[in-house]
Amino acid sequence: MKFSLCGARVWDGVAARTTTAACSIEIDCGLITSVDKSGSADDGRRVHLPEHAVALPGLIDAHVHLDLDPTLLEPDDQLAAARADRDLRMLARAASMVRAGITTVRDLGAGQWRELVLRDAIAKGEIPGPRVLCAGQPVTLPSGHCHFWGGVAANAAERADVIARQVERGVDWIKVMATGGVFTRGSAVDHAQFDEPELREMVRLAQAAGRSVAAHCHGAAGIRNAVRAGVRTIEHCSFAGKQGFGSAFDPEVVADVARSGAWVSPTVNAGWARRIEKDGRSTAFHDRMRGVLAALRGAGVPLIASTDAGIPGVRHADLPIALRAFAHYGDLTPLETLRSATSESARALGLAEVCGALRPGLAADLVVVEGDPLLDLAALERPLLVVAAGRIVLDRTAEPVV
Ligand SMILES: [Zn+2]
Repeated sequence: MKFSLCGARVWDGVAARTTTAACSIEIDCGLITSVDKSGSADDGRRVHLPEHAVALPGLIDAHVHLDLDPTLLEPDDQLAAARADRDLRMLARAASMVRAGITTVRDLGAGQWRELVLRDAIAKGEIPGPRVLCAGQPVTLPSGHCHFWGGVAANAAERADVIARQVERGVDWIKVMATGGVFTRGSAVDHAQFDEPELREMVRLAQAAGRSVAAHCHGAAGIRNAVRAGVRTIEHCSFAGKQGFGSAFDPEVVADVARSGAWVSPTVNAGWARRIEKDGRSTAFHDRMRGVLAALRGAGVPLIASTDAGIPGVRHADLPIALRAFAHYGDLTPLETLRSATSESARALGLAEVCGALRPGLAADLVVVEGDPLLDLAALERPLLVVAAGRIVLDRTAEPVV
């Protein structure tokens, strides 16, 4: 389908500000073909946008779980739900995400590769949803974090088997549980599940198959092992210890992360906004996690926006809300926050030539909001129009102004 969006200012995903003049964005066969200040002479279908609207690249959530239902609190409840129910709900989640302006997600784990089926159906245009990158079953220890997803490995041969199985299923990334996690009973967040040579071998196997590695890391030892082993993204990076997130902070490990060139995906969800203060005082969680993110930023570590959507209480379509909490904890300007949810995230995910910016040749993934999100991120929370892979998936332009 060929059409153009006219009349809105544009933030391209990189520049320090929006264009001062309204632009015309031409879209054809799923791609942006031009972004033109003067407007085009083409009289194809045009969508006229209000003058106060801003068009920006569709948002990227770098860490989600499409197959997880955030209303279920226990892994056993997740696994007990009937497969047909779970598939239906997964479809609904994908639709809700793309309608919220989230046009790309990286799914970092499930047990049955059903999210790969969803990924392919969306890519073919059969159902609405964001572009999905999948990791399938994360590599973990027997009884380790998320062992119930099936990616368990007790030794080098089994680790190689788990990775080979994911590649054969067609994953885009390999996920490794470098530490224990919160979601799995009996698992400790500060437990390093693999040592550095073991992780290095997994990175080598993944790379030999053309995949990058995302490492789930809470405790400092696991973070250090993972970055030294050459993983591409560190998930959480919470420096969790016995006293909770941020309680085992280690500046030397921060220096290791910075040296490695890895991106950190700190999974700041919308619920973090409620943990900023209690009874008029900032919480210990808040102070510790602000400190962790400040140290990472201070060391020059690039951050990418992510929510871990699907874990208990974290809804899939809430990235636009979570970005305000992310900006707060990371002490990021709206511009830095938006780059980390668009162009910077695309770079981290290996999609810089696919999406994450509004420029000719990239996918027509864009969201139009009322007001300037570089002045106030809240503008993202009620998009006016969303285009994903060249299709209009949400259009409120005809709604009466209230
Ligand atoms: Zn996760």
